[in-house]
Amino acid sequence: MALPLARLALSIGAFLALPHAGTLRMCEADPCGGVFLDTSRSQKRRWCAMESCGNRVKAQRHRRRLKAEAVKPEKGKA
Ligand SMILES: [Zn+2]
Repeated sequence: MALPLARLALSIGAFLALPHAGTLRMCEADPCGGVFLDTSRSQKRRWCAMESCGNRVKAQRHRRRLKAEAVKPEKGKA
């Protein structure tokens, strides 16, 4: 049972040792927590997949901002 894990660790080590390997990062999308390899030149990737996690985070942020803006004028009244 330990063998597949050891093999995985070995392959990850070999993979990271490659000169072109990017930075191993954690996906910033909340329910994901996945790990991905940032091979972008700027090293500023924040999600494992822009199509799923990136869009989800952006939509969440957008909804939160809309909510915050909707709440603001009510504060003065109450
Ligand atoms: Zn993700």
